[in-house]
Amino acid sequence: MWKFLKSHWIMSLIGLVILLMVVTTLIYAIATREGDIGLLEGTTGKGLRWKTTPITCVYDLGSSMTAQALEMYDSARKEINSQFSKDVIGACVPWALKRKMPEVIKGELVLNLGPPSPPAEGVTVYDPFESKAGGTTYLHEDDQGFIGAAQLYMVEVSNRKVWLHELGHVMGLAHDRRMDSIMYPSLNDRGIELSSKDIKLLREAYE
Ligand SMILES: [Zn+2]
Repeated sequence: MWKFLKSHWIMSLIGLVILLMVVTTLIYAIATREGDIGLLEGTTGKGLRWKTTPITCVYDLGSSMTAQALEMYDSARKEINSQFSKDVIGACVPWALKRKMPEVIKGELVLNLGPPSPPAEGVTVYDPFESKAGGTTYLHEDDQGFIGAAQLYMVEVSNRKVWLHELGHVMGLAHDRRMDSIMYPSLNDRGIELSSKDIKLLREAYE
């Protein structure tokens, strides 16, 4: 063996370099395989976020909105807001104008119960990965690359995890492939809170 290495040292060196490259690539692949994607990427290449906070929410009084859903929304938004020095997600208020409430309202989150309608025109980012979604969020990007409006459709109204997950999307968070995160796509395996990295990113975006 030694004799072989001595007489073929260039080949051995090349072999060693290739081996090191393979090992480094593998380690890198494993280290980056899972984890936060963080904020969804907008068309400008920047992370999607609202320009101003608190994010305000509207629901249609004429719809099937329930007191339980509003309570769940409120407790989820308070849980998220407790991570910040100010409110990032505001209360959800009924549509006060006489004319019919539009599906999309500029500058607002529109809260709906039930399965989602097809995404309205102008939706640039939404939540396409959940096949049996407990909730669905559509985000509308404005012409400055901010989130200009959002639509939330809640199916599993009594599930705290679904509310936190969808409000994570509303703030701009993408899915997280780590199972201990609330942003994990599959409800059953989902963690119970936002990851510390998600909170850090959101604080950078909103504080
Ligand atoms: Zn999701």
